[in-house]
Amino acid sequence: MDLTFSERELAFRDELRGWLADNPPDERPANGDEGADHAWRRAWQRRLYDAGWAAPAWPTEYGGRGASLTESAIYFEEIGRARVPLPANVLGVLLGGPTLMVWGSDEQKERYLPPILSAEEIWCQGFSEPEAGSDLASLKTRAVKDGEDWVVTGQKVWTSGAQYSKWCMLVARTDFEAEKHKGLTYFLMDMEQDAVQVRPLRQITGDPEFNELFIEEARIPHANVVGGVGNGWKVALTTLMNERAGLGFALQIRLRHLLDDLVETATARGLLSDPLYADALADLHLRCESIRLLSWKGLTDVERYGQPGPEGSLTKWLWSETNQKLTQLAVDIVGPETLTANTDWSYEMLRARGNSIEGGTTEVLKNIVAERVLGLPRLKAAA
Ligand SMILES: Cc1cc2nc3c(=O)[nH]c(=O)nc-3n(C[C@H](O)[C@H](O)[C@H](O)COP(=O)(O)OP(=O)(O)OC[C@H]3O[C@@H](n4cnc5c(N)ncnc54)[C@H](O)[C@@H]3O)c2cc1C
Repeated sequence: MDLTFSERELAFRDELRGWLADNPPDERPANGDEGADHAWRRAWQRRLYDAGWAAPAWPTEYGGRGASLTESAIYFEEIGRARVPLPANVLGVLLGGPTLMVWGSDEQKERYLPPILSAEEIWCQGFSEPEAGSDLASLKTRAVKDGEDWVVTGQKVWTSGAQYSKWCMLVARTDFEAEKHKGLTYFLMDMEQDAVQVRPLRQITGDPEFNELFIEEARIPHANVVGGVGNGWKVALTTLMNERAGLGFALQIRLRHLLDDLVETATARGLLSDPLYADALADLHLRCESIRLLSWKGLTDVERYGQPGPEGSLTKWLWSETNQKLTQLAVDIVGPETLTANTDWSYEMLRARGNSIEGGTTEVLKNIVAERVLGLPRLKAAA
């Protein structure tokens, strides 16, 4: 990947920078009101969409600009630089849309992609279950064919944003005899039916960001199967690789900003002359730069293979570790504000705890990097 921008890329960047300067988001609601925050981010996504900036890399027929991979990376860097929020429909835009573009039928793409981008229909990810997280393929939610529908029963957990969602990317077991990876199917489940009950789970931050889903004979039309019956594992991997690489790209920019804020506070408090703080901040700076360059390198994989590769696991692992180190250091540098409820720093510090679990735990990502990136021998199942 050549990181020198062409004339066209510079023009793209300047146009976006200009638009962001002229169109700042409305004032952010006070901390602690997750519903208001979601509504604020939804309104912001709508404004991005109306101006054609919600996801420039998407094809024009679905509301994007057909931007190149480099332009898409510039986009994330610029929205990060402007410190505007991520879209409310982040899972739809960064995970669901890209999965449909690979596996969806033309009808599915036409039906589902535009309202993802406009934030008219919010998406959530129904993968994890009480006994199937890292070992996703052992999930128990069942789907049985009944005429033109599938009837689904089971329980999902940690479903982020389910309370706002119209559609759920749901993986369920459809073949009970096949090997566990082969008996799965990927569905788009309509959340607006009585058979789907959403119960919020409150996190350490105080926000009910994720939920339990209780599914009791929910109906899904056969037309909402994505990628074919029995092919759910492969389709789910596309979603997961986009989660680790795509989301990673957006998040590493937020990491940089948190670090800039922390350095500014350390400077204002005269802490940079203390070698311990200087050393810790320099270490974070090196990590941020490595993650940024790894994210850019990930684009080469997308260019080569058409979708993110397993290397995204490395970026996600390093990002979560660094964000936790950074927010922990903030406790010493920023002081009591970091431990006071409803402050920005306390939110960042508490929210960072989940980073090494969500989207694949660090231990599991290390296994992926060892086996699929470095080509080391496969982990033998524990005796
Ligand atoms: C903030 C947050 C948001 C989330 N949002 C969603 C969402 O929207 N949708 C969704 O489907 N899920 C979501 N999740 C769930 C997340 O994907 C799972 O928590 C994660 O995959 C781990 O699964 P688990 O919790 O069942 O832990 P387990 O898989 O039971 O793991 C328990 C421990 O064992 C370790 N372990 C497991 N297997 C191995 C192995 N092979 N080698 C070494 N160590 C291993 C793990 O690293 C972990 O430390 C979210 C989680 C969080 C924290």
